[in-house]
Amino acid sequence: MIKVTPGATVGILGGGQLGRMLAMAAVQLGYHTHIYCPDEKNPAEQVTDKISRFDYEDEKALIGFAKAVDVVTYEFENIPVETVNILSRYVTVFPSAEVLQISQDRLHEKKFLNNINVNTAPYAPVSTMNEAIEALKQIGYPAVLKTRRFGYDGKGQAIVRTERDVQRAWQSLNSCEVIVEGFIDFDMEISVLAARGQDGEIKCFDPAENIHKNHILDLSIVPARIDPVLRKQAVEIAHHIVSELNYVGVLAVEFFVSSSDPIFRVNEIAPRVHNSGHWSIEACPTSQFEQHIRAICGLPLGETSLYGRAEMKNLIGDEILDMDIYLKDPDANFHHYGKREARPGRKMGHVTRIFPHILPK
Ligand code: AMP
Repeated sequence: MIKVTPGATVGILGGGQLGRMLAMAAVQLGYHTHIYCPDEKNPAEQVTDKISRFDYEDEKALIGFAKAVDVVTYEFENIPVETVNILSRYVTVFPSAEVLQISQDRLHEKKFLNNINVNTAPYAPVSTMNEAIEALKQIGYPAVLKTRRFGYDGKGQAIVRTERDVQRAWQSLNSCEVIVEGFIDFDMEISVLAARGQDGEIKCFDPAENIHKNHILDLSIVPARIDPVLRKQAVEIAHHIVSELNYVGVLAVEFFVSSSDPIFRVNEIAPRVHNSGHWSIEACPTSQFEQHIRAICGLPLGETSLYGRAEMKNLIGDEILDMDIYLKDPDANFHHYGKREARPGRKMGHVTRIFPHILPK
């Protein structure tokens, strides 16, 4: 157990909006922050004490960064495992390189989940189109072909409805490390943010219902509008996952909810704070960002109960131009990530509304 006390420096790999909100939470708890991010003009640089602008493969720069900070975490799971291995020789990194390795590869992730008795969609790893066609005979149509690595917001995947779709789908993926996954006819997608401290204490946030537009999260509604029994079950599964991983920090677990499928399935896990937990900034005594900083610094975890029903809307691309409407809305908590250019599909900010009079059951 390492205790990192206020006044010390939290190092964060990645300078996107998640890094920015992590840094803001760290500062609130009295820490300095140091962001490591190769990108120019990243959203986190406005709010951090220090920034190292180097590649994730730059060993000399990584060692310098490791020696300048007291603990390291990351805001996205596609940083090379070797980066975390190098840093770990000089400073504690949470979540661990092992967790990163599992969550970077859909095959490792699904194997891990199934080994701990957590259900996923049926799947098979394949490396050629013919193997995919064979696997589809078992799994059945429709199905989803997904690259094992580097997929996000629906990228790196293709639906196949009949055998005739396979060739086009295979070519679109441009990879030979693929999994074939059974299509789940879900009614709703939900997620649970679970936190585990260095001492093993676990606290979960209420399940959020997530609604996507063009494969990008549009709206999160908390608590998810599902049977409370299912909500409890989702929290128990998330609890089980962070416990089995000996995880430290906040982890997101995404689920499919389907009335036609008696099995409750996990879609994926993300070893980090997550877009579907932004509402926790205003809706709970402790936000997901503060909880993550508390966990990695060895502080007690905070309370996660809801003040009331919450809705978080992502502001994507031009939607940020509506900011004056949100600023005039007495119920809206508006966040701008400081990005200058509102490109289509880019997450520019978010807005959270709390309805304290609607208390969750
Ligand atoms: P992922 O990158 O795995 O989170 O997938 C992105 C989105 O694609 C999910 O949020 C779902 O809406 C959809 N999706 C992924 N896998 C499946 C599946 N096996 N069955 C149905 N829809 C899926």
